[in-house]
Amino acid sequence: MKTDRRKVVLIGTGMVGMSYAYSMLNQNTCDELVLIDLDRRRAEGEAMDLNHGLAFSGSHMRIYAGAYADCRDADVVAICAGVAQKPGETRLNLLKRNKEVFRSIVGPVTESGFNGIFLVATNPVDVMTRVTYELSGFNARRVLGTGTALDTARLRYLLGEYLHVDPRNIHAYVMGEHGDSEFVPWSQAMIATRPIRDIVEETENPVQMEELDRISEEVRGAAYRIIEAKHATYYGIGMAMTRITKAILGDENSVLTVSALLCGEYGQNGVFAGAPCIINQDGVQRVLKLTLSEEELQKLDQSCGILREHYQGLE
Ligand code: NAD
Repeated sequence: MKTDRRKVVLIGTGMVGMSYAYSMLNQNTCDELVLIDLDRRRAEGEAMDLNHGLAFSGSHMRIYAGAYADCRDADVVAICAGVAQKPGETRLNLLKRNKEVFRSIVGPVTESGFNGIFLVATNPVDVMTRVTYELSGFNARRVLGTGTALDTARLRYLLGEYLHVDPRNIHAYVMGEHGDSEFVPWSQAMIATRPIRDIVEETENPVQMEELDRISEEVRGAAYRIIEAKHATYYGIGMAMTRITKAILGDENSVLTVSALLCGEYGQNGVFAGAPCIINQDGVQRVLKLTLSEEELQKLDQSCGILREHYQGLE
């Protein structure tokens, strides 16, 4: 991968895609940003709008509405395109329609000669990442989804509020499906190097396990509550995508909970699910193997079982 001129192609310039683009512009994440959408005029309008903000940013980014041929020399192709659920439509039917959307995207991207990293945000993200992997024929390490990156950020924020600790000093992860079966392995949650569970067990400690469970419940339901209030979620996921993109373009070896293909880790095989991974310019350098308890392994197994079922429903 070339790191001299960092190039990102964004496919799907809706709310999520443009939150990602806006956040990348403000954080000077890449040098060239190409916008692609089924609605070409929308992509053009978005490119104009962002370009008019360039003078106020610290970035020299080249931004334009492009075509699939522009993926040829890109470092990252990010997919945020998707169709919305119709009233009364089943989840499986939505999945089937999104698979068709991805067929119309991933084929032209790979035909362009693209040789970088796929980053997928479209929901259900773990299944759509697996669809991208299957359609592209890429090495699994070069196909990743946003997974539980956003859920993990929400968890760290809420724990920080509850424990009165800077979220950056809280090391805790959400694992499994980005969805209802996700879970927090509390055995692996730390403030600095101190296990949060030890703090809970201290006598006369105001930190309660019930409160921690309430927090994990709040993380699981966060998207529902935001959607109830404002119909969609996009800023948080846009920033999570920017963080992952920076880790790739900067060859950072950062730990992020992306959706990656599990190949024996945690006893799981052939499924894309959220797990802490080391991310660098090659994509998923490796999946980190945390020492989960038996109960946590069972939760992950259940979550992966659900993801397998969803994928098999598509076949
Ligand atoms: P949106 O409707 O605003 O945007 C979708 C865009 O995709 C539209 O601009 C549309 O024209 C485009 N599109 C549709 N079919 C296309 C095709 N074949 N080729 C190119 N472009 C195409 O939706 P949004 O709010 O931006 O959400 C996008 C996706 O992100 C949804 O699937 C949503 O569920 C998901 N999402 C994921 C997370 C996460 O944590 N992973 C969080 C929030 C939203």
